[in-house]
Formats: sequence, C-alpha cells, structure tokens
Amino acid sequence: MSFFKYCPQCGSQNNEFIHQRRFECFDCGMVYFHNVATAVAVIIEREKKILFTIRSKEPGKNMLDLPGGFTDPDETAEETCSRELKEELNIHISPSNFKFFKSHPNDYTFKNIPYKTEDMIYTAILPEDAKFQLEKEEIKDIKWISKTEIPLDKIAFKSIRKTITEYLAL
Ligand SMILES: [Zn+2]
Repeated sequence: MSFFKYCPQCGSQNNEFIHQRRFECFDCGMVYFHNVATAVAVIIEREKKILFTIRSKEPGKNMLDLPGGFTDPDETAEETCSRELKEELNIHISPSNFKFFKSHPNDYTFKNIPYKTEDMIYTAILPEDAKFQLEKEEIKDIKWISKTEIPLDKIAFKSIRKTITEYLAL
C-alpha cells in the first residue's frame, strides 16, 4: 500500500510504501523515510479532576484529548509543552516545570496521510492565575473531568487512553 501515487522525483507509479515507513521507487531508486513524529500531551490535575480538551477538527473531532501537539524542528519536548499550552489555552508554564510521565506510540491520520507518532506525556501544575483562552480552530472547549468519571471511550487516541489508564492507577 502506498499513499503517494507518484514518485516525487521521477513520477513513476512503480513504488511502494513499506510498513507505512519506507517509501521506495523501483524505477529511480528514491528512498524516503516517513519517520515517526514526536508529539506531546500534558496532564493537568486539580481537585481530583483532569483537564481535557474537546477537539475542533479531525482526527477525533468532538472527542476528548489532552492539551499538546507536534514538536517543531529544533524544539525540546518540554518547549513543545510550553508552547502548545500557550497557543491552545493561553496558559503560561515554563518548559522546566513539565515533568515527564510516559511515552506511548500513536496513529494520527491527517488528510488521508497516516502518521505514526511517539506521544511524550508530561504532567504540570496549573498556575493560580490561569485564565483560559481557547484557540477555537483546534480546541472546541475544555472540560474538567473527575478522575472517577473519565469516559475512556470518548478519548480520541489510544496513546492518551493508555496514559490516562496508567495515570489513574498511580
Ligand atoms: Zn522514482
């Protein structure tokens, strides 16, 4: 199965995407690695509730997620956490205040291209003076859900479901 119809170098259709990872053109020999992308997600707990976001768009539209996103080039995962919380929720937490929790692989299909990600999950404390302002293009709403009432089947991604399950078992 290939999700690129034509080789981007020679235009041949004689190509294959092996294990959703290694694109190879059998005519010109081009090889392209569709590598695993790093992404982050942040668990924020307050008064025995966890902060979830509701996704505005696919994949997982209208489903629960944690704040986070893809790591930019040359960025640390902690910097991604800090940047994404500011962009999505207008919450300011410095990169040094994120504590690593777990990593889990995930599948993320965006506009028909399947990406494999490694989701790095962190925890953080919500600042006292936090005033949420949502980036509506990405986040439809936020929801504080009691740790005893989290509907795992409403969580968009398997990596986040696993993470939450492990977090609740602590
Ligand atoms: Zn080619």
